[in-house]
Amino acid sequence: MKYEKPTINRVDFAIASKYGSPLKTQKIRSEIDGVNVRELIKDFGSPLFVFSERAIEDKYLEFKEAFSSRYPEVEFWWSYKTNYLDAICKIYHKLGSKAEVVSEFEYQKARRNGIEGKNIIFNGPYKPKDALRVAVKEGAKIHIDHLYEINDLEDIAEELGVNIPVAIRCNMDTGIYPQWSRFGFNIDNGEAYEAVKRIYKGKKLYLTGLHAHIGTFMLSASAYANEVRKLMQLRKKLEEDFGYEIEYIDIGGGFASKNRLKGVYQPPEVIVPSADEYAEAITNAIYEFNDKKLPKLYLETGRALIDEAGYLLTSVFADKRFPDGKKGYIVDAGVNLLYTAFWYNFDIALDKRYEGLNEPSMINGPLCMNIDVIAENIMLPPLERGSVLSIWPVGAYNYTQSMQFIRYRPRVVLIDKNSTPHLIREADDLEYVVEKEIVPDYLK
Ligand SMILES: *Cc1c(COP(=O)(O)O)cnc(C)c1O
Repeated sequence: MKYEKPTINRVDFAIASKYGSPLKTQKIRSEIDGVNVRELIKDFGSPLFVFSERAIEDKYLEFKEAFSSRYPEVEFWWSYKTNYLDAICKIYHKLGSKAEVVSEFEYQKARRNGIEGKNIIFNGPYKPKDALRVAVKEGAKIHIDHLYEINDLEDIAEELGVNIPVAIRCNMDTGIYPQWSRFGFNIDNGEAYEAVKRIYKGKKLYLTGLHAHIGTFMLSASAYANEVRKLMQLRKKLEEDFGYEIEYIDIGGGFASKNRLKGVYQPPEVIVPSADEYAEAITNAIYEFNDKKLPKLYLETGRALIDEAGYLLTSVFADKRFPDGKKGYIVDAGVNLLYTAFWYNFDIALDKRYEGLNEPSMINGPLCMNIDVIAENIMLPPLERGSVLSIWPVGAYNYTQSMQFIRYRPRVVLIDKNSTPHLIREADDLEYVVEKEIVPDYLK
């Protein structure tokens, strides 16, 4: 047994519960899909992002089954911004998902991944005209965000001598606050109807779809039912008034993953609706309308599909005792890799069992920045340099929003369904970081 210098600490929450003493309970995750976490770090370095293909596939099939078993025509459009590593996108495309992009960069990435224009939804408030023109020529589905975009598309229609099929993005009160009203046209105050009237009068565009994305990490299935009702009502009215055939409603993404929001006491297993609960609420709301011609149902879900498939492995570099007596650990992964650390209390597990009693500890990253906090208050046994922690779930948004800041971004590994790890992105290095820099001659 290793000697640990004694300290006196007031432990406020050391009450034994039915789960055992919080002083002794250790959460251990020694492997991911059968691959030992220490081996992964030995082979690929630390820190390390790790994705599980099995988890991606299982979750996708769970959602697909939940919707397809209740509704005839369902399509999934992978939200690129949630995670646009090529290997990850390719898994979704192989599973049958199309692409949903919100910029010309993401559009180009989807095209490069072999996705045809007609299988790309182009969303977002900022679509430069050149990017729009390419998307129109390639037959992408364009979801209009504002009136300028209607004008831009009409110019393009004129220029190319074509009529362009479009959808509009809508926003509305779904009973969840704050409302996401920044994007698209409001249904409740008639703005969405007016936008379509404007499209109709222009005669160059025609409406084939309605879209909304009501928020992210939405814990309420009934908000989606409200969304669907409003989209279905609007669809009916627009078809009657303008003679359009609105083929699809796209309900966006935003389903919650099993992550633990800060400030929310109940665990995700209790508060996060299942795929079936979301699907039940959404499809029932469509069926309420008894429409002769049911719309296709499009989903752009991102977070709920990928979050739990992603881990970040990090190694302990040093420990400290803060002036207030609290234990502190410095690990090699910082908040530049964990953008979502500001909202979630991650599930953080040890690579093996450690000797000694738990004490409240703080985990800090390697950045020389006070904000670099991975966990503010977590019960941990005494750890040593090289102890490995796995942080989960981190598959959504963290990689795409990570940045080289103070330290390089690390490697990313995908574990395939046969438990073989594959490197899917190299770490950044100096050459990569300075590649685009230019020093003016006079400073050379
Ligand atoms: C971000 C985004 C999504 C995906 O949202 P998740 O919360 O990751 O499911 C879908 N549609 C649009 C328009 C988005 O902006």
